[in-house]
Amino acid sequence: MITMQGKTVTPFDNPAADIILRSSDKIPVDFRVFKLLLSLASPFFAAAFTLPQPEADDTIMPVMEMEEDADTLALLLGLCYPVSVCAPPRLRTLRDLRMVMKAAVKFEMDGIQQHLRTLLVEPRFIEQQPLRVYAIACRYGWIKEAREAARNTLRYPADTPLVDELELISGGTYHRLLQYRKECGETASSAVAALAMQRPASLGGWVWDECTACVAGKKVCVGPRSCWLEWMLAVADIVRERPCGDMVRKAHLKDVKICAECMRDVMEHIEDYMVVLGGKVEKQIAKVKLRFWLDES
Ligand SMILES: [Zn+2]
Repeated sequence: MITMQGKTVTPFDNPAADIILRSSDKIPVDFRVFKLLLSLASPFFAAAFTLPQPEADDTIMPVMEMEEDADTLALLLGLCYPVSVCAPPRLRTLRDLRMVMKAAVKFEMDGIQQHLRTLLVEPRFIEQQPLRVYAIACRYGWIKEAREAARNTLRYPADTPLVDELELISGGTYHRLLQYRKECGETASSAVAALAMQRPASLGGWVWDECTACVAGKKVCVGPRSCWLEWMLAVADIVRERPCGDMVRKAHLKDVKICAECMRDVMEHIEDYMVVLGGKVEKQIAKVKLRFWLDES
């Protein structure tokens, strides 16, 4: 028990508080808190506070030296306080979330863990940094969230920079993500290639379905169907690498021998078709299941 006083921060400066939690920073920060609030949030603290205190001196405020830094404690304790005292703290980064989660696990704060679990899949995290979210979700066994994050990783190139959170998971867990990506790419690509090989007129009345090559007498024109076919094969290649409906738009209409008139017809239809095809790609990917254990079928 150390009596040296650190800085204090609002709302953890209440003189009526009955314990000080001292941060691990070089210049420590003191959090004057109420045992009751900590006990309600944490069986760990509830048990700790029932232990007999060695120097029961009412004039000295007991101090607990914490392993957590002040930023982490401010977030963790803020989440333990009612909104009538302070607004719930906003976790700005995944690092914040990770640090608070680590502490919440240590102190058996189930309510806070559940809260962090819902924060993890907020679009600002799962859409912007899905690999990091995947690793955190796997680390804590949150399978639904891990699957959702894995799906979001498909929107990014496979070759991503190293992120800290990968240290949280095993090689096997990362390998299964890569395997999932590969399966998604193959199934999406095959689906697009299969569509491309379908007979004309079986697809739904697009201009290329009715194409019998250019009938306008322009010898150089191979007609909308050839143009579309090349485009489809380009799409199949793209979604193999990055299996995602939006990637359909990345394929360019190739420089095939097509007359301006046929090209205009294709252009009229292709925007609508991209939406349809993107939907089909997404539907195929949804069928692929991310595995979590080697023996999972
Ligand atoms: Zn033509």
